[in-house]
Amino acid sequence: REFAEISLKDIDQIVKSSFPLCMRHLFEKLREDHHLKHGGRMQLGLFLKGVGLKLGGCTCILESRVLEKENISLSPLYLYRHTHHSILSLVGAERFDKEYSYSIRHNYGREGKRTDYTPYSCQKIISSTPGVGDHHGCPYRHFSEENLRAALGKMGVNSRATEDVMDKVRNRHYQLACTLTFEALHESSCDAGINHPNQYFTDSQKMLQL
Ligand code: SF4
Repeated sequence: REFAEISLKDIDQIVKSSFPLCMRHLFEKLREDHHLKHGGRMQLGLFLKGVGLKLGGCTCILESRVLEKENISLSPLYLYRHTHHSILSLVGAERFDKEYSYSIRHNYGREGKRTDYTPYSCQKIISSTPGVGDHHGCPYRHFSEENLRAALGKMGVNSRATEDVMDKVRNRHYQLACTLTFEALHESSCDAGINHPNQYFTDSQKMLQL
C-alpha cells in the first residue's frame, strides 16, 4: 500500500512496526506523560516531521483546516498527541494557538533564526547528553543494560538476537546494535546499516509493503 493511505488509526501499528527504539520510547513517554522536555520534543518532533511527509493524507487535511491562516505545516507532534481525537475535534481547537503554535513555528523555522531544522541523525542523537527526566538520546547508548533488555523484549526481539545486540552495545557499536534489532524484527538483512532514524522508518515501511 502507498504511504498516502496511512490513516490516524494506523499510527499505533506503525509505531510498533517501523519506529526505531529511540522514537518509540519518546512516543510512549509522550503518551504516558502528555509532555516531553525540550530535547525530546525536538528529537521526536523533527523525526515525525520527516515521517509526516509520508503520512500525506491525514496531515494535509489537518493542515488545510487548522492552519490555513498560518500557512505552515501541522506539527506531527500535535497530531500524534491527539491520536484519539477525531479530526473535527482538532479543527478550531482554541488551545492550539496558545499552547502549540510557538513550538510548531519554532520546529518549522518560522521564528527565531527561521532555520528549517532537519531531523537528527543517529550520530547526533548518540552524542547527545540527556539529563534527569529527559527521554531523548539513543537507548543503545543511554539506557542501562537492564532497561535496554526490557525494551528489546517488549519490541519482540528474541533472546538470541538480544545477546547479539548487547554484544554490540558493550563494544560501543550503537548503530550496529540498532541494525541488528531492525534485522531481527524484520527477519531480513539491512546491508546499509542504520545511520538515521528516518532511514530506519523508510526502510522498514518499504520492507513491510513488499
Ligand atoms: Fe535511534 Fe539511531 Fe539509536 Fe537506532 S541507532 S535507536 S535510530 S539514534
